[in-house]
Amino acid sequence: MSPAASIARIYRGTPPNLAKLARCLQAGELVAVPTETVYGLAANALDAKACRKIFMAKGRPVEDPLIVHIHSLTQLFEVAKPNDAALRLAREFWPGPLTMVLPKKNCVPGIVSAGLSTVAVRMPAHPLFRRLLQRVGVPLAAPSANQFGYVSPTTAEHVRTGLGKKIRHILDGGPCAIGVESTIVDLRKPRSPRLLRPGAITREQVEAVLGLKVRSGRTPSAPPKSAQVAPGLMAQHYSPRTPVTLRSRLSLKMAARGTAKDAWVFQAKPRGELDGNIFWFDLHGKIEGVARRLFSTLRALDAGKFKRLHVELAPGEGLATAINDRLRRAAAKK
Ligand code: AMP
Ligand code: MG
Repeated sequence: MSPAASIARIYRGTPPNLAKLARCLQAGELVAVPTETVYGLAANALDAKACRKIFMAKGRPVEDPLIVHIHSLTQLFEVAKPNDAALRLAREFWPGPLTMVLPKKNCVPGIVSAGLSTVAVRMPAHPLFRRLLQRVGVPLAAPSANQFGYVSPTTAEHVRTGLGKKIRHILDGGPCAIGVESTIVDLRKPRSPRLLRPGAITREQVEAVLGLKVRSGRTPSAPPKSAQVAPGLMAQHYSPRTPVTLRSRLSLKMAARGTAKDAWVFQAKPRGELDGNIFWFDLHGKIEGVARRLFSTLRALDAGKFKRLHVELAPGEGLATAINDRLRRAAAKK
C-alpha cells in the first residue's frame, strides 16, 4: 500500500510521542507497538471495548485469545494468579520472549481471554514498548499487528502495509531483534507444564528451570464454541499468498532445475554459481539471523510475483524448532 492511501502515522519513540500514544491507549485507541519478537497491535487490556477493536482491525476471530503485556510483576498479580513455577520462569526469562498461560483475575475481560478462565501474560523486553507500558500504567493486550492469517510484521513499515487503512498509530522501534513470536507455556497445572508454541526460549531452557519435562499441548477451547484452536496453533497461519514448498535440504542443482518463476530460499548463501532466483535468510546461516529475517524475507518474496517459494528448513533444534514451526504453517495448504 502506498503511504498516501494509509491513515496510519509512524511515530519515532521521542518522549512527547510516547506521551501522546500513552494518552491514545488510555482513551481506548489502538497503537501498534514494537516488541523484541514481532510488532503487536495494542489496546488497554482492561477495556473490553478497546480490545474489541483489535479483532475488528485484524479480522481476527473472537475465539482466539490475546496475550496481555505487563510492565512489572505487580501487574502480573493484577491480571493473573501465578503459581511458583510461573514466578520461577518470570525471574529467569522476564523481561523476554516467554508467555505464560495462568488462571485469570476477574478484571481481564472475556474478549481478551476468549471466554476462558485463563490469561496469557508476557513481560516484553523492548525498551520503547517498556517505556510506553510504564507511561500507560495499565496492561496492554496485543496480538501480532498483521491481518489475521498473514505473515507477522517485524518492522513498522510491515504494519503500515497490512493495517495502514485500519489503524492510526504505529510506534517505530526498528526491526524486531528476535523476529519470531514468543514461546507460550501453559502453566495451569504447574506440575505438568505444556509448550503451546515454540519460540526463542526453548523447551529445554524451560525444563531446566522447572526441573520437569515440558510436553507439547494445545490451547484449551473457549467454552461456548468447542473445538476452537487459536491461530497461533492453526495449521495454516503466518502464510504468504505465494505457495510454499519446504525442503530439508535445498541444493543449487535443484534450483537450477526449477522454473524461472519459482524462488529458492536457502538458510545460508549457497556456494557456487548463483544464477536464477536464489535467496537466503542469513549470509552465514546463523540461526538468530534467520529468525530475525524470516518474516521480512517471506514478505518480500511474496511481493515478488513468484509462482512458488521453495524454502529450506532450519537444521538443528532450539530456535530452529520455532523457525520450522512457522515455516510449516506458512506452507500448510489453504
Ligand atoms: P498472537 O498474539 O497473534 O501471537 O496470538 C496469541 C496466541 O496466544 C493465541 O493464538 C493463543 O495461541 C495463545 N493464547 C492466548 N491466550 C491464551 C489462553 N488463555 N490460553 C491458551 N493460549 C492462549
Ligand atoms: Mg498472530
